[in-house]
Amino acid sequence: MNLPFRAPNSGPGRGCTDQTTLKQRGQHEVFCGLTGIVWLHRKIENAFFLIVGSRTCAHLMQSAAGVMIFAEPRFGTAIIDERDLAGLADIDDELDGVVNKLLQRRPDIELLFLVGSCPSEVIKIDLKRAAQRLSKIHTPKVRVLNYSGSGIETTFTQGEDACLAALAADAPVDHTATTDTLLVVGALADVVEDQFRRMFATMGLKNVAFLPAKRAADMPTIGPRTRYILAQPFLGDTARVLEDRGAKRIIAPFPLGAEGTTAWLKAAADAFGVDDAEFTAATEAGHRRALIALAAHRDAMQGKRIFFFPDSQLEIPLARFVHEELGMRLVEVGTPYLHRAHLSEELARLPSGTFLSEGQDVDRQLDRCRAEDPDLVVCGLGLANPLEAEGFTTKWSIELVFTPIQGYDQAGDLARLFSRPLDRRTRLGGLLCN
Ligand code: SF4
Repeated sequence: MNLPFRAPNSGPGRGCTDQTTLKQRGQHEVFCGLTGIVWLHRKIENAFFLIVGSRTCAHLMQSAAGVMIFAEPRFGTAIIDERDLAGLADIDDELDGVVNKLLQRRPDIELLFLVGSCPSEVIKIDLKRAAQRLSKIHTPKVRVLNYSGSGIETTFTQGEDACLAALAADAPVDHTATTDTLLVVGALADVVEDQFRRMFATMGLKNVAFLPAKRAADMPTIGPRTRYILAQPFLGDTARVLEDRGAKRIIAPFPLGAEGTTAWLKAAADAFGVDDAEFTAATEAGHRRALIALAAHRDAMQGKRIFFFPDSQLEIPLARFVHEELGMRLVEVGTPYLHRAHLSEELARLPSGTFLSEGQDVDRQLDRCRAEDPDLVVCGLGLANPLEAEGFTTKWSIELVFTPIQGYDQAGDLARLFSRPLDRRTRLGGLLCN
């Protein structure tokens, strides 16, 4: 049996739990929350995301989502332009018309999201009221919800948080349940969700649900017998709504890598009284596969210095993973927003003294990065190209959100996302020297 790899200064202490962070409130570089539609529209099969926005929003979505892989698209943009701002059109009527046409043409849609954006014309529209009005018209065939994907929010993953919070607020509350349900919260690739379902079933857990569900009609009920576990670290609003409705959070790290996945599964198993033998039977083989996959990358990664710019809110769990499971050294770990309660288990596993920063003052952070000269920089698309031009090796943080990275069988892919840019740089260096 392979023993779990441990980086030299990781261990069971309190790590960065009480670490002070550098708080920055300067200029920052982020995508907007509309980006979440790129992965959410793949996840919920019979939902449609109608962005109420400008031409800029439509262009962003077309380029971010790339080639449509479905016979029928699952998102579109109702463009509200200056004509509406001048009051020449009745926006409510126009929106109703667009929705009616869409639903007539697409009888497969059962859940429609009106997604707000940040142009001033759109901010003036009461999308909540519009969603309630349209829901009444189209019930019971179609539910209409709204959320904001606006670029005014902190970061692009807040789009998913806002979407799931809307779903959680809409879910029926069940006060009659007599047994606990495990609710896994956060959009996961289907392949990952299926792996987790199988492992929970092997542990003997029967009532397991996911938010979001794959189909609109299968969205879970919520109530005092719901024990939820976050699969993504950026779901603060969703968690708040779930708790307002009686659900209780299972304290856990996030399911990244061999150790993160084991600790996440163990937290769920313990909450449901799964005994150690059943837990080991369900997880041992996966854990071993993950360790083998990670070992293939460790030699190349061990001791390499990594700098995280704030972008996705995945930074803290990723830093834990690259340090604890690949032996990388953390130069700075920046995150757009640090939710200490949700990240408590990850912070405890970071080496004490790690430089943590929250928010951004991009010029100052770039100066720190240049001064430290790390081997690898994880950052948003806007910073990656200029940094590459300066000779840094970069990884786009958004790729870590688009790619299935959770669970045992994705641990090797996750490690590869970090090792590939370093490998490419080494090869390029070799070519230039020859
Ligand atoms: S929501 Fe705002 S930031 Fe996002 S594409 Fe539209 S205009 Fe740009």
